[in-house]
Amino acid sequence: MYYDIIVIGAGPAGMTAAIYARRAAKTVLVLEAVNYGGQILNTPDIENYPVEAHISGFDFAAKVYEQAKALGAEFVFEKAVGICEEDGKKVVVTTKNRYEAGAVILATGSENRKLGLEDEDKLVGRGVSYCATCDGNFYRKKVVAVVGGGNTALEDALFLSDLAEKVYLIHRRDSFRGEETNVNRLKEKGNVEFVYHANVTRLIAEKRLKAIEITDKLDGSVRTIELNGLFVAVGRVPENQNFASLVKLDDSGYVVAGEDCHTSCEGIFVAGDNRTKTLRQLVTATADGAMAATEAVKYINNIG
Ligand code: NAP
Repeated sequence: MYYDIIVIGAGPAGMTAAIYARRAAKTVLVLEAVNYGGQILNTPDIENYPVEAHISGFDFAAKVYEQAKALGAEFVFEKAVGICEEDGKKVVVTTKNRYEAGAVILATGSENRKLGLEDEDKLVGRGVSYCATCDGNFYRKKVVAVVGGGNTALEDALFLSDLAEKVYLIHRRDSFRGEETNVNRLKEKGNVEFVYHANVTRLIAEKRLKAIEITDKLDGSVRTIELNGLFVAVGRVPENQNFASLVKLDDSGYVVAGEDCHTSCEGIFVAGDNRTKTLRQLVTATADGAMAATEAVKYINNIG
C-alpha cells in the first residue's frame, strides 16, 4: 500500500506531523508500536503548553489523536523495524507488513533509561516502575522513592507525594535539571525527603522490591531505605536503532538534524525528542511535527 507520507511514531510530534500533512492533502499513515501518545502520557498535568493552563498528558494525546483521525490520517499499530529504498520510494517494514511512501518522518521519541541494576527488569511490576502516572495508584499510603533530577523525576515526586505516605527523591547531585518551581513545590511538601549526591546501587527484594541500597557519592557511605516502590526517572534514550543504517546519528543515538528536520537521507525527516536539539519539550515536539511535515510535503511535490 502506498502513502505520500508515513510517520513512524504517534507521540505529539508524529501526530502533529500527520495533521499538517493531511491539511496539505497528502495521504498519511501513522505507524505506532504500542499506543498513541508517547512520553506525554506519563505527565499527569501539563502546565507549560499554550492555551490550556492544565491538561493531563492522556487528555492532550487523545485530543491530538482525534484531530489527526478526523483529518483523515490512518493509524496502524505495528512496530516499524526498518526502512529501505526501492524504485525511488521508501519502504517501511513493520513486524507484520511493508508499506511504501514518498517520504518518511521519524517521530519515534525515546524510551526509559534504566539504572542498569541487577534484577531491575525482573522487578518491573513488582516494585520497580518507570511511570508514576501509570503505577502511582498502587502505592497509596506506601513508601516510595523517585530517582532522577530532571522534570520527569520532579513531576513524578509531586504526583506521588499526594498519594504515598512518604516519597524519597534521590538525585546524584544537589542541583536539579528540572524546573525550580517544582523543586520549590516539593520542598513545601511534608512527606518528601531529598537525598542528594546518592546513587541507587542495589535493589533488595524477596518476591517484590522491599528496600534499596543507596551509596553516597561524596563519602562512599551506604544506606538502606525500606520501601514499597521505586520510580526510575533518569532520562530517556532515543529509539533510532532500527534506522541507523539510513540516517546519521550522533554519539548518543539522536538523529542528526537542524530546525528544518532534514536528516542525512533525502526524503526522510525527523521530528521530536529523537533528533538532536537543545530543548526537548512538548511545544518543541509539536513544532517539529509541523516543520517535518511541511518539508516532507515540499519534497514530495518536487519529486512528483
Ligand atoms: P533528563 O532531563 O535528561 O534528566 C535525567 C535525570 O536523571 C538527570 O537529573 C540526571 O542526572 C539523572 N540521571 C541520568 N542517568 C542517571 C543514572 N544512571 N543514575 C542516576 N541518575 C541519572 O530526563 P527527563 O526528566 O526524563 O526529561 C527528558 C526531557 O523531557 C527533558 O528535556 C525535560 O525537560 C522534558 N520534560 C518536560 C516536562 C514538562 O515540560 N512538563 C516533563 C517531563 C520531561 P544529572 O542531572 O546529574 O545529569
